[in-house]
Amino acid sequence: MIAAQELIQYTLFQQVAYIAGAAMFVLSLKWMSGPKTARRGLWVGIAGMVLAVAGTLLDNRIVDFEWILLAFGIGTLIGIPMGQWMKMTAMPQRTALSHAFGALAAGLVGTAKFYYFLEPKLHEGDVSVNKFTMFAIGLEVLLGFLTFTGSMMAFGKLAEVLPQRPITYKGQNFVNLGVLAVAVVIVVMLIIDPVANKELFVPLIVLSLIFGIMLIIPIGGADMPTVISLLNSYAGLSGAAMGFVLQNQMLIVAGSLDGASGLFLSIIMCRAMNRSFTNVLFGGFGQIVAKKGDDEEEKIHRTSNPEEAAMMMDAAQSVIIVPGYGMAVAQAQHKVADLATALTKKGINVKFAIHPVAGRMPGHMNVLLAEANVPYDQLSEMEEVNPEFEECDVAIVIGANDVTNPAAKTDESSPIYGMPVLDVEKAKQVYVIKRSMNPGFAGIDNPLYYLENTAMLFGDAKEVAGELVTEFAKLGSMHS
Ligand code: NAP
Repeated sequence: MIAAQELIQYTLFQQVAYIAGAAMFVLSLKWMSGPKTARRGLWVGIAGMVLAVAGTLLDNRIVDFEWILLAFGIGTLIGIPMGQWMKMTAMPQRTALSHAFGALAAGLVGTAKFYYFLEPKLHEGDVSVNKFTMFAIGLEVLLGFLTFTGSMMAFGKLAEVLPQRPITYKGQNFVNLGVLAVAVVIVVMLIIDPVANKELFVPLIVLSLIFGIMLIIPIGGADMPTVISLLNSYAGLSGAAMGFVLQNQMLIVAGSLDGASGLFLSIIMCRAMNRSFTNVLFGGFGQIVAKKGDDEEEKIHRTSNPEEAAMMMDAAQSVIIVPGYGMAVAQAQHKVADLATALTKKGINVKFAIHPVAGRMPGHMNVLLAEANVPYDQLSEMEEVNPEFEECDVAIVIGANDVTNPAAKTDESSPIYGMPVLDVEKAKQVYVIKRSMNPGFAGIDNPLYYLENTAMLFGDAKEVAGELVTEFAKLGSMHS
């Protein structure tokens, strides 16, 4: 369908579309990094993508559109249900699937290009492939196929189709690095002489697919969101390599932005959890921690009810709401927003304390609270709000667990030791809404629940938040 490696002549429209598209992608990333501008960022990103696709479809090397239309139809059939039916809480899985498809496409395009370059009939006997192009094809195929299987594995773990726990064995890192090393050697051999070594191309694909699986096996489900962001970066780099192979500048720009932003996001997530990359990739985090002996003293927690909590809030001057993953699961954000509105109306100072890794993806809480129309000025980042807990009368933790765990500050043996957390325990009174005493994502107990100033409000976050709104309103009508 596409003529040989001729020098590409972009039309004026293509040039404008690509430059404008690239600028829009950069602006989109910038705007998406803040809740106030995130919607604008999203729309600008979509517009940039439309321009990029339109510019590419006008490429004069396209001789017919049959296959393109077919692929467009299949993509739409898969994409629309994914966007419509997959819940917000399943966003990491959904992202993993998108990477898997993107990376598979890059791997397949690289494969097609390899055989195309080697096809003497098409190429009039000239099988000399520029070494840089061969390097780009090698990188594209290696990263594309490993990201495909890696992302499918990540999807399986997050969707709980595959076991969540890390599977480790002795010498695992050695075996994994060995497989990767063999794949890299094949890429080098293909760069040196693609014709003589063409039989090695299929083994390269197979090794890349296997490496993607082996890379994810030792990583716990708990670390998957970080790994997905890393896979996002690989998919972007493989897209950029594809841009060099196809001589498409837009792909180079978009792939590089994707690669860089995925890497930054992984770094931000690692920092917020106080973990290193090596710890995420090789740490086996999320393995079942052996239970302590029977001699451990029984810890006591206090249980309360929405009536008491409403009375405490009624008497408070400041309330800090700490949302977490449980709020997302219960879809409690609208009830929580109603509670905040009722408190604010009574003149109580209300703030939402947003931990950078609350929930299951960066910005998870911001997205949910924005959906429930909570004003942005009520949302406070961790560093900003932490000094305020000491002066706070009531802190309400809604389905958050790890991000409030004081052991991260004091217990060196804790798996989350060193992770910055919200200083919730410093509030005068703390209410924790969750369904049980079960741990959260990191699988560890939270000493906050056994403190004297903490009371548990057991139940589904949406239901309990709703009851708090009702009880608080009852008190209001009693005052008037
Ligand atoms: P968490 O530690 O996973 O705790 C969530 C709590 O919500 C659980 O203890 C659970 O307790 C409760 N819950 C679940 N469903 C509920 C419902 N329907 N109603 C009420 N409560 C419910 O969540 P988190 O405090 O938000 O911490 C996030 C964790 O994810 C951190 O460990 C972080 O490192 C990790 N992580 C986050 C990201 C990110 O980007 N955000 C990425 C990677 C990892 P019950 O079962 O007792 O109800």
